[in-house]
Amino acid sequence: MLSKSQQHCLQGIGVRLWSERQPGDEIRLEAEPEPALPEVTAPLEVNTPATPVPHPAVDDTSLGEQQPAPVETTPRASIEIPALDNWDDIIGAIQDCEACELSQNCTQKVPGIGDRQADLLIVGEGPGHDEDLRGEPFVGRSGQLLDRMLAAIGIDREQVYITNIVKCRPPNNRDPKVDEAQQCRHYLEAQIRQIAPRVILAVGRVSAHNLLGSNLPVGKLIKEMHQLPGTDIPLKVTYHPAYLLRNPSAKTIVWQDLKLLHRLLQ
Ligand code: URA
Repeated sequence: MLSKSQQHCLQGIGVRLWSERQPGDEIRLEAEPEPALPEVTAPLEVNTPATPVPHPAVDDTSLGEQQPAPVETTPRASIEIPALDNWDDIIGAIQDCEACELSQNCTQKVPGIGDRQADLLIVGEGPGHDEDLRGEPFVGRSGQLLDRMLAAIGIDREQVYITNIVKCRPPNNRDPKVDEAQQCRHYLEAQIRQIAPRVILAVGRVSAHNLLGSNLPVGKLIKEMHQLPGTDIPLKVTYHPAYLLRNPSAKTIVWQDLKLLHRLLQ
């Protein structure tokens, strides 16, 4: 049962409220537009923490059933990579990073923000214009919608950790290139190791593809519960708030994802 304030939040993100779904009242899954996908990246390599991270049972999902097919990747360049086993080193390394051309053109790095011991880690694709200026992920229109989505399940932005696949703004908001995502990958891996989240929410295609090492359409990935490869961390894919701003009807699907997240985090 939703509280009055949750109902208010839901209406704020444009979700029509109902008491119960009726048989035959099917939700139509609209595939996020899928531009040509020439290459895919390998899944992140996040060693399972020494102490396994407990996570709740997932009742109506098929956790891990749909494992991405192994994908071929270009080997990483053999450069000296610091251990990145503490936050100072992680943030410092991101701030100093010049590994790809994104660092040449951004105003500042956007490492991530929030509770470094959060149960929920949200991963977007990369900073946009507003994020580049503020140095904080998801602060533009997409971010405001993300905040309202979280509020709908009673979560404040400060309670989660929010970051992106790449930490520098891709010019003109283009997708990060495969090699740019690969160069940035160890920062996200290190962040995940530090946070050891109970659940990861991958928002949008770029995030889902990089985290899972898959190139399946988001419309397919969204239907299954996944695990971050190499870990037992449940991973949910959902539509990017920017997509929801263009396709408000998909909010109904995202609301189902939010409810699932809420259950996982109980
Ligand atoms: N979109 C993203 O994927 N990340 C941000 O930080 C902002 C917009």
